[in-house]
Amino acid sequence: MIISITMNPSVDISYPIEKFTLNTVNRVKSVVKTAGGKGLNVARVLHQTNVEVLAGGMIGGYLGKFIEAELDKESIQHRFFAINGQSRNCIAILHEKKQTEILEQGPVISEDEAERFLKHFEQLIEQASILTFSGSLPAGLPDNYYAKMIALCDEKNKAVALDCSGNALKEVLSNKTKPLLIKPNKEELGALVGRSVENNVESLKEVLSLPLFDGIEWIVVSMGVDGAFAKHKNTFYQVTIPKIEVINPVGSGDATIAGLAQALDRRQSDEMILKHGNTLGMLNAQEKITGHVNMQNYQNLMNQIQVEKV
Ligand code: ATP
Repeated sequence: MIISITMNPSVDISYPIEKFTLNTVNRVKSVVKTAGGKGLNVARVLHQTNVEVLAGGMIGGYLGKFIEAELDKESIQHRFFAINGQSRNCIAILHEKKQTEILEQGPVISEDEAERFLKHFEQLIEQASILTFSGSLPAGLPDNYYAKMIALCDEKNKAVALDCSGNALKEVLSNKTKPLLIKPNKEELGALVGRSVENNVESLKEVLSLPLFDGIEWIVVSMGVDGAFAKHKNTFYQVTIPKIEVINPVGSGDATIAGLAQALDRRQSDEMILKHGNTLGMLNAQEKITGHVNMQNYQNLMNQIQVEKV
């Protein structure tokens, strides 16, 4: 089975308000509360494609219980490590065609919890054929925590598809044991190399050939409406996607990771791995609810994707 890890999940609250006014009371008629976090989106998408998936990570307090109950409602298996702190709320205020977000930092993980999680995680790894790690690390964990988790997976010969950014990603890249795949978007790639990356084949090839990425077998740079660019060992691929009607692209990167991990797990061809990942990304962008994909449109979209060696 695929294990999808979310280290700092949240209860995502969405408040639609016609007019949002500062410094006064704003009343909300309809509220939507869902279990959120990038790895939970990965798990949801995998579940909809009928793949056996288990969601894991750290969770705490009554908000943690809410997240587990939501996953139960969707029949998604989970095995989280319970922490003392409280999982977070993330609020999105939808007003006047804008979105104002209030994101809590979330719990602070103690040293003891950090150590105990690794023991719990070591057991979890046994059940996995491949793992995905998505999103930021909660406060209290050192930047090299994903690197430590990848080292544990490596000891058991389990591949990891990693979707994170910033210092946690830098630490992973400088570590000896590497994930099988990383999926930065263009902005995350730019932040990593310290300059903005142009969307052309030559500059993408040059950036992905930097020594920084040595030892990473797969790098998939997702580029939203522009599809993706990828490097597998020494081969580069340009992925061209069709124009589609987009409803809500939030979480498309998570859907892409779900597809990439699933196709890698099935040892599919490079072309199929990239097509499957991008198709799920696009299907997510066509839905209102993050992490949802309508598989009825799968084949039609898949047929329109081009993967070219460049
Ligand atoms: P997120 O952080 O919201 O999960 P991301 O920035 O990591 O997203 P994107 O590059 O936006 O990831 O999207 C991943 C994939 O989903 C793209 O490579 C593409 O295949 C598809 N996709 C995303 N946005 C669009 C769009 N507007 N039109 C068509 N396809 C899209």
